[in-house]
Amino acid sequence: REATDINALCDEYLRLSYHGLRAKDKTFASDFKTYFDESIGAIKVIPQDIGRVLLNLYNNAFFAVKPSLQPVSDEPYKPLVTVKTNRIVSQSGESLIEISVSDNGIGIPHQIVDKIFQPFFTTKPTGQGTGLGLSISYDIIKFHGGQLKVETEEGKGTTFIIQLPEK
Ligand code: ADP
Ligand code: MG
Repeated sequence: REATDINALCDEYLRLSYHGLRAKDKTFASDFKTYFDESIGAIKVIPQDIGRVLLNLYNNAFFAVKPSLQPVSDEPYKPLVTVKTNRIVSQSGESLIEISVSDNGIGIPHQIVDKIFQPFFTTKPTGQGTGLGLSISYDIIKFHGGQLKVETEEGKGTTFIIQLPEK
């Protein structure tokens, strides 16, 4: 593990995800916003592994905000992915670094939300998803002594929350 600037890592992989998707599909577009807690110093992680988790969450979020997937509405739809970092104190008094990745996309139906962390579970068309992203991400965060959680509402959007011990 290496002392890693989490805000910089979040930012770097956000750009990687966005520009990677743009390179594959010129019509792809979404706004994204970042709110970083600048008081967060470096924490000890395997940066490539946390980067892989971030890339999975960002790619999922940008997929979920595709205009063609949104419910019909009179309001014009504006795709948005928001990334936040902050420090929280757990119930047991442990200091945690929290990274949240939110989208205002399709959301996850409650019937399937329990399955999304299972290997090979995907709702994407053949060739567009392996269903491995979240299961690998879950394992990586567990390995770091942290937790990966989801909050979602169908038709409104989804937030994935990574919690990592600060020390
Ligand atoms: P894949 O992206 O290859 O389908 P993942 O493990 O990354 O596999 O995700 C599994 C499933 O969880 C997705 O197919 C989708 O149904 C759901 N999912 C994940 N992230 C989101 C999101 N941000 N919004 C809506 N659904 C999501
Ligand atoms: Mg995925």
